[in-house]
Amino acid sequence: MASMEFDFIVVGAGSAGCVLADRLTRCGRHSVLLVEAGGSDRKLKIRVPIGYGFTFMDPSVNWCYDTEPDPELNGRSAYWPRGKVIGGSSSINAMVYCRGLPHDFDDWAESGAEGWNWDKVRPVFERTETKARRRDGRLETTGNGPLWVTDEADQAHPVTERFIHAASEAGWPTTTDLNGAQKEGLGIFHNTTRKGWRCSASDAFLRPALGRGNLAVISSAVVERILFDGNQATGIAYRHDGVTHNAMARREVIVSSGAVNSPKLLQLSGLGPAARLKDKGIEVRADLPEIGGGLQDHLAINYYYEATVPTLNNRLQPWPSRVTAALQYALTRRGMLSLGINQCGGFIRSSAQATRADMQIYCNPATYSTGSGTAPQIDPEPGFLLSFQPCRPTSRGRIDIASDDPRAPPKISPNSLTTNEDRDAVIRGARLLGELIKTPTMAKIIKSTRQPDPTSMSDSDLLADFKQRASTVYHPTCTCRMGTDAANSVLDARLRVHGMDRLRVIDASAFPNVTSGNTNAPTIMLAQRGADVILEDTAAAGGPVQ
Ligand SMILES: Cc1cc2nc3c(=O)[nH]c(=O)nc-3n(C[C@H](O)[C@H](O)[C@H](O)COP(=O)(O)OP(=O)(O)OC[C@H]3O[C@@H](n4cnc5c(N)ncnc54)[C@H](O)[C@@H]3O)c2cc1C
Repeated sequence: MASMEFDFIVVGAGSAGCVLADRLTRCGRHSVLLVEAGGSDRKLKIRVPIGYGFTFMDPSVNWCYDTEPDPELNGRSAYWPRGKVIGGSSSINAMVYCRGLPHDFDDWAESGAEGWNWDKVRPVFERTETKARRRDGRLETTGNGPLWVTDEADQAHPVTERFIHAASEAGWPTTTDLNGAQKEGLGIFHNTTRKGWRCSASDAFLRPALGRGNLAVISSAVVERILFDGNQATGIAYRHDGVTHNAMARREVIVSSGAVNSPKLLQLSGLGPAARLKDKGIEVRADLPEIGGGLQDHLAINYYYEATVPTLNNRLQPWPSRVTAALQYALTRRGMLSLGINQCGGFIRSSAQATRADMQIYCNPATYSTGSGTAPQIDPEPGFLLSFQPCRPTSRGRIDIASDDPRAPPKISPNSLTTNEDRDAVIRGARLLGELIKTPTMAKIIKSTRQPDPTSMSDSDLLADFKQRASTVYHPTCTCRMGTDAANSVLDARLRVHGMDRLRVIDASAFPNVTSGNTNAPTIMLAQRGADVILEDTAAAGGPVQ
């Protein structure tokens, strides 16, 4: 087949790729090809917020990865869902909207990503968001960004009020907006939803751009290799309907395949640690040892409680209340189907000495169990779960190709809990949660504890329990991180691969360090700013700019 030519080629229609497709085509003067391995996102299980549970292990929309055995997690392998669908992981995520904390971005700048400090990125978040909430039954919005962020406080399950009251009893701060002026404290999460539907990156950015004649989207097509002329990226080779095609880029190839697949694609294309590539039979184009390195993720542990009061289990489990909820949703787009399961949480300091919030807490008004290969099952009796996640782990893992076959999953080595700092944080997190559990309000609503009770365990037992039960909260980042040079990073601060020409990586893999909370918002911000940078560079090179 004859190869096609575009100004820009974006690989991956996930959180970042959808933003780039919109921004780079907006002025009408650049042509863009967006290539996505997965298929359409026009599915109810994606669009209806509560459908999250159904996509969690569904290979039709999910890469369904498993990690290598993780030595410090007792050799356990973890399940890593990743979106394989238009919208990427933003189509299957739990929708919590969390910018992160200001020092996360100041730390990015300090580690070499000049220009990515909080003062620079904050306006980018602001112009991206439309904030929505209901007051006196009416929907109010502020801002006019494409991404809707909805305050669900008026719909959260009533038991969340108890969690927030307990937080005050524990001496913790509370907040109504963890992305606002009061970033620390327990409160109700805001979600990426719009009038009762999921607002994925596809909904917010790609769909409005689809009518533009200068945007081509090819789905169900896996990019297998980046094409080069010397050190200059010139295009891609992708597989669609069993046939390999080439597409050429006049200006740039932008890899937005996510923190797992971006390093994989670069390595398959001959960029990465030379010895590993040779070992897999790949011809080395550039020895860039940090491609795939630097992996950071968040680990969390859940403690499950049976409740003395009704929780979401009472609404989600019995069939009559499911039918009522479905009817309410069909008629009003409101009710429990319009919400995620993570309703309450926030950033808390684990000690009086801490200079910044170092734990993210989750208080979910339901309990459920996850079996292998099935959607999470809601328990019949009322219950809730409490969880903590150390915000800024210091351990770093790797992601590398396992073979030269593009169809083979990569080797994910999280390398969790390999620093003393991370092991200490786990104990502090459990003790912090213990402060909440011991409050009078929580004592009233806890009927029984299903898992080991963190309030009566020694430090070594808490750590042992964490190693045995903790799991990812699906925030892999940093595998192509920005920094100063190829010895400590993959990209410069303008997201260009060190030593290569016309090649950028723009997605969660470009984070220099994981942010303190959920990673969708900072990925979208990174792509917005990445688009600014591309358009500036294009203008400087004599091309049109919007
Ligand atoms: C189950 C789950 C729950 C989560 N919950 C939350 C949450 O509540 N809040 C939050 O902020 N974050 C959450 N996250 C994390 C957040 O969604 C991600 O950090 C973010 O979406 C990452 O965006 P990305 O652009 O880097 O990658 P992705 O959105 O994953 O996009 C990468 C895209 O590239 C495509 N692709 C990959 N390889 C190729 C190839 N070779 N050829 C063509 N296409 C390719 C993929 O199919 C995918 O569509 C969650 C993630 C998961 C998986």
